Amino acid sequence: MAPPSGDNNVVVSSNLKLERLLSMKGGKDEASYANNSQAQAKHARSMLHLLKETLDGVELNLPDTPFTVADLGCSSGNNTIFIVNVIIEHITKRYEASGHSGVPEFSAFFADLPSNDFNTLFQLLPPLANQGLGSMEECLASTGHRSFFAAGVPGSFYRRLFPAKSIDVFYSAFSLHWLSQVPDSVLDKSSMAYNKGKIFIHGANKSAASAYRKQFQTDLAGFVKMRSREMKKGGSMFIALLGRTSEDPTDQGGAGLLFGTHFQDAWDDLVQEGLITSEKRDDFNIPVYAPSLQDFKEVVEANGSFSINKLEVFQGGSPLVVNQPDDAAEVGRALANSCRSVSGVLVDAHIGDKLGDELFLRVANRATNKAEEILEKLQFFHIVASLSLK
Ligand code: SAH
Repeated sequence: MAPPSGDNNVVVSSNLKLERLLSMKGGKDEASYANNSQAQAKHARSMLHLLKETLDGVELNLPDTPFTVADLGCSSGNNTIFIVNVIIEHITKRYEASGHSGVPEFSAFFADLPSNDFNTLFQLLPPLANQGLGSMEECLASTGHRSFFAAGVPGSFYRRLFPAKSIDVFYSAFSLHWLSQVPDSVLDKSSMAYNKGKIFIHGANKSAASAYRKQFQTDLAGFVKMRSREMKKGGSMFIALLGRTSEDPTDQGGAGLLFGTHFQDAWDDLVQEGLITSEKRDDFNIPVYAPSLQDFKEVVEANGSFSINKLEVFQGGSPLVVNQPDDAAEVGRALANSCRSVSGVLVDAHIGDKLGDELFLRVANRATNKAEEILEKLQFFHIVASLSLK
């Protein structure tokens, strides 16, 4: 067994460090996001009627200007491509039914942090239809091709990403619960908010949880402000993110079960086995916050630029896709892979990938022993919002 690693001292506190580091696991292997996001795909599909309602509210411009769509926090994998297609097909139908003289050309922007695996995403994009030949209608009708111009946009959605008044539809799914940073006070030993012994705020002290809440609201305020500048008049935004039903932020619901139970126990195992120090564990915190409806609403209302057409908590179901629910080891592996696909990059940066392997092995073992309970209790709730620019 390798001794405690001393060469990995990245403490994920400042937002610039997190911005450079954070990504879902790239590539296509067992613990990659592309391979562990079927549950998100399912949850997104169950919300399509709400997305379409949002799209029905978008003002259609004359078809001679391009129609622009941006997916914020697109990650890498098929989910974002599927959604962009849904959006463009729906808007195309609206143009066709509206008596406009034609259908505009579409631009789709895939936005995520710079360390996102854009290469895998770009390779999954089907070829562009209509290479200068035929009409846009023919292009939209051709299957196996994409009917939009694609571009990747690297940067944090908590800052400006696009020119002013340039985007018709913003879409963001399962991304805005990622904070721009772990609040400094949570990592500060002298602060009341120091999250001693814990790597997430589920079941943590009240001060740590309020520091997370404040960070979430500050970040969301930045997000809403930037989008209000970038959106075209008449544009709309569809947002889905992890949420919670409890008023109490120390009860993080499904996110709490994913990051606050077996994952927490596995970190404690590493400490108890002498593989890392307890300080090393305490320096690690997951920069995720599942807000309540109220946490979210306060920020959008305080900004004032958007009308809230819809805002609800939506039951998403389990984040795990398990083919054989009777096989406890498969459930354990699914939980560990799901956890690793979203937090693995941060874990490896903090303790190195060898200890990362050890950690997730323990997550899998612990989860295997609690397979039945996990299948029964691990449920995600999402906050779904449809906003339009006033
Ligand atoms: N929308 C996709 C992926 C969700 S995973 C789907 O539905 O499957 C969450 C994504 O949000 C990750 O790719 C992560 O890198 C991205 N993300 C987190 N914080 C971000 C930030 N500040 N700016 C841009 N993207 C961010």
